[in-house]
Amino acid sequence: MSTLLITGGTVVSATGRTEADVLVDGEKVVAVLAPGSTLLGHDLTGSVDRVVDATGKYVIPGGIDAHTHFELPFGGTNASDTFETGTRAAAWGGTTSVIDFAVQRTGERVEDGLAAWHEKAAGSCAIDYGFHQIIGGVDEFSLKSMELLADEGITSYKLFMAYPGVFYSDDAQILKAMQKAADLGLLTMMHAENGPAIDVLAEQLYRQGKTTPYFHGVARAWQMEEEATHRAIMLADVTGAPLYVVHVSAKQAVEQLAAARDRGKNVFGETCPQYLYLSLEDQLGASSQEWGDLEGAKWVCSTPLRSREEGHQHAMWQGLRTNDLQMVSTDHCPFCMKDQKELGKGDFRAIPNGIGSIEHRMDLMYQGVVTGEISLERWVELTSTTPARMFGLYGTKGVIAPGADADVVVYDPNGHTSIGVGKTHHMNMDHSAWEGFEIDGHVDVVISRGEVLVSDGEYHGRAGHGSYLKRGLSQYLI
Ligand SMILES: [Zn+2]
Ligand SMILES: [Zn+2]
Repeated sequence: MSTLLITGGTVVSATGRTEADVLVDGEKVVAVLAPGSTLLGHDLTGSVDRVVDATGKYVIPGGIDAHTHFELPFGGTNASDTFETGTRAAAWGGTTSVIDFAVQRTGERVEDGLAAWHEKAAGSCAIDYGFHQIIGGVDEFSLKSMELLADEGITSYKLFMAYPGVFYSDDAQILKAMQKAADLGLLTMMHAENGPAIDVLAEQLYRQGKTTPYFHGVARAWQMEEEATHRAIMLADVTGAPLYVVHVSAKQAVEQLAAARDRGKNVFGETCPQYLYLSLEDQLGASSQEWGDLEGAKWVCSTPLRSREEGHQHAMWQGLRTNDLQMVSTDHCPFCMKDQKELGKGDFRAIPNGIGSIEHRMDLMYQGVVTGEISLERWVELTSTTPARMFGLYGTKGVIAPGADADVVVYDPNGHTSIGVGKTHHMNMDHSAWEGFEIDGHVDVVISRGEVLVSDGEYHGRAGHGSYLKRGLSQYLI
């Protein structure tokens, strides 16, 4: 077991900041000390194995990205990051835990889907990883299987109100699953979009010759998100199940969450960097020399990027400030343009849905601190502390305190990060959805359970360092 001391930095938590040194022994934080402390008369810097100088920098708990899809089969292809490449990119960007989605579809057994996900991840991950369970086919067998999830360390599961024929659940199925979840204490995660109505709108647009990526955003109208969000809240309310709505992008959906929360309901919402920074007009409507108007396919994801004119991006930042949205995850689901996104040339419905952001979440959210959208403490809360609480990891993760895992990031507010292919880009993608973004900060050192994964611009991590996180029940319920 080796010891490590992080000296001279400002330790930031969800509730404050303080000048402190952080002492790590093996995999754990063992002390947060006044700067320059001695221990039993010994100068600590001389008696530890390694000193990390964090002078002038922030020392924060490692990021937790609670929404990723490594190797997800979608639209006849697979998300291009494996557990190995995706978790390595995460580490580069200051994320030290991920929660990915194991998949069960209609006619498949939940146990088989989960076993397949364990097999993909085991021995591959650079950082710690847990799972949510997608229940894509609610029937008597999958409902029964939900009883096993908590013992497996999976205390949240996801349903879809979109993608008929793939992952979709109708209202009767949702109600039954939520009743089960309420009994078991599981958190229901919801993809809240009215999929059957969206599919009709999409087909009508296609028949009118409106086939470019822009119309992906038009078909997936905000009304479809608001309506589904409201319906999910009501179904949850009648069952007593807590509800977590994933990838919220419409301001009207935030209003639905806020109204439910004002009534004291256990209703939560997550948004993603793409809904804070990118838009229907600027990205989905883009064209380039290389790809023509297929360029916008780089940003096809669901829920879609929304109109800047309508002010959705502004509303997402506001929701993060008012805690009507509690978390920022990435919904990392990368596809290359070549052979993947280009499947949708001439038909936006055939573009695989997803954006890759896992490497940049901590930086992109820090930029929100720089521009005054959120406070430094809120940055830590949104990206680490609340994800830990929401998904039953708090105490071990999400905080720098004695007894917690030594997942620590040293972040330099005087550093700079240029995002883009050939600059900062370690995800397995042939383009970046964030090309040209400039960040007024830099991830300097990344430590996962006491091991330095990134320092001095070099990667020291390895596949297999990451271990499986058996999660407890949500620690965020009211
Ligand atoms: Zn989704
Ligand atoms: Zn997702």
